Amino acid sequence: MHKKFAIFGHPVEHSLSPLIHNSAFIELGVDAHYFKIDLKDGNRLKETFFNEKLSGANITVPHKEAAFQASDHLDEFAKKVGAVNTLVVKNGELYGYNTDAPGFLRSIAKFEDINSILILGAGGTTKSTSVILRDAGYNISILNRSEKRLESFKEQGFTCATFETFTPKKYDLIVNMTSAGLKENSLPAPIEILEPLLHDAQAAVDIIYGKETPFLQLAKKYNLPCSDGKDMLIAQAVLAFDYFTEHKFDLEKVESIMQNAIG
Ligand code: NDP
Repeated sequence: MHKKFAIFGHPVEHSLSPLIHNSAFIELGVDAHYFKIDLKDGNRLKETFFNEKLSGANITVPHKEAAFQASDHLDEFAKKVGAVNTLVVKNGELYGYNTDAPGFLRSIAKFEDINSILILGAGGTTKSTSVILRDAGYNISILNRSEKRLESFKEQGFTCATFETFTPKKYDLIVNMTSAGLKENSLPAPIEILEPLLHDAQAAVDIIYGKETPFLQLAKKYNLPCSDGKDMLIAQAVLAFDYFTEHKFDLEKVESIMQNAIG
């Protein structure tokens, strides 16, 4: 039976998910297709999912909390972070997963000898990834431009600072998880803070994709191994595809097809 999958978001026209999932469906001979649904009202997610007769979906900004609410069953990790980016239907019920953070973890595995990580930004993505990175044994610190969003991280025992309270030290990996550099060309922190950090680091990652951000440009001046948000995008998609296709395919193979699809 032909299956339908979609990505829900608003806006969603920029999404590369249809391209990467459809490439994998075609190359692996899965009778399915994947398309975009621009959904304004997150409360209509479940209804739209069933009206469209979908077998599964991905969910992007701003509907990950709505997808969490719409799920009849949640996996342990999605429950912990309160956000769902992958839905699969089984026997008429929605199963919710979060593959963003496991995807990020998978995407940094290629960097060797990383123990300490400094995350710039304290938004939704930091919320889910900080937990999984700490559980995986990394030592996590968080630096954010303002105080408010740091409160919940402090409660969970993370080392946190704002630009004003930050005491520089050496971190193995510096990650830009802010949206600085996405639309405008700004750095995620003052250059006086970033330069010594990048000088001492072993690698840098920006989770923004589609452009080389000022942060990555600066990291490259220090000859650091770098990756942009495409690696995380692919990694979360590989794990979502694994749920969509009930763990039938070799993940390395899926990853290589998806990587080729976006060049
Ligand atoms: P949120 O809106 O939840 O959080 C934004 C964070 O960025 C806040 O900590 C905010 O600080 C900080 N910030 C925003 N602008 C600036 C700036 N000019 N200078 C310094 N800090 C700034 O964002 P998300 O966590 O949802 O997403 C963050 C980024 O990650 C986005 O660019 C998104 O596109 C990308 N992303 C990529 C994915 C991928 O697969 N590659 C997956 C998910 C997200 P403050 O608290 O002070 O406002």
